[in-house]
Amino acid sequence: MAARSSKTNGSRNGARKANGKANGTSNGHPFRVGRSRTGLGLFATEDIKKGTYIAEYIGPLMTNKECDETPENKYWFEVNSRWTINGATRKNIARYFNHSCRPNADPMIRDRRVRIKTIKNIKAGDEITYDYGKDYCDAYIKPHGCKCDKCIEKRAKERAEARVASARRKKRAAAKSAQAAAR
Ligand SMILES: [Zn+2]
Repeated sequence: MAARSSKTNGSRNGARKANGKANGTSNGHPFRVGRSRTGLGLFATEDIKKGTYIAEYIGPLMTNKECDETPENKYWFEVNSRWTINGATRKNIARYFNHSCRPNADPMIRDRRVRIKTIKNIKAGDEITYDYGKDYCDAYIKPHGCKCDKCIEKRAKERAEARVASARRKKRAAAKSAQAAAR
């Protein structure tokens, strides 16, 4: 996730105990990897309450200075002005959370650790997403256009409005030429 994003909004709540341990899922998480619109994503295997810690974003820590000297990878997660987690490891299941501009989870940063917490009640089957932050979006998402539900709905709405506007224009033009013909 976030190439060096620096969201720090979670520190206040980080002390809460993880209670996202799943019943009956083999990976110990209440979600599974599945096909999403943009590739792979994580989908709830049970209803999950808002405020539940469901995963940790893991990987070796790098200093931000090391990052400056290393080719960037999109799984870097900057935890503070000094440290970044390199989440590219396959063991890091949290790297499969997709970005959404209308997320139902949020990464909480505390003491160089990042844990993913739900910020909405989630139904079994829902994709679990969080907002990757502006830096990541500018670097990796904007060049292709965001494919999250919110952005897809927004573009569909804009297209529908454009259709209505164009129909209105055509109607006006037809009325005008009918007037002209009647003269
Ligand atoms: Zn979006």
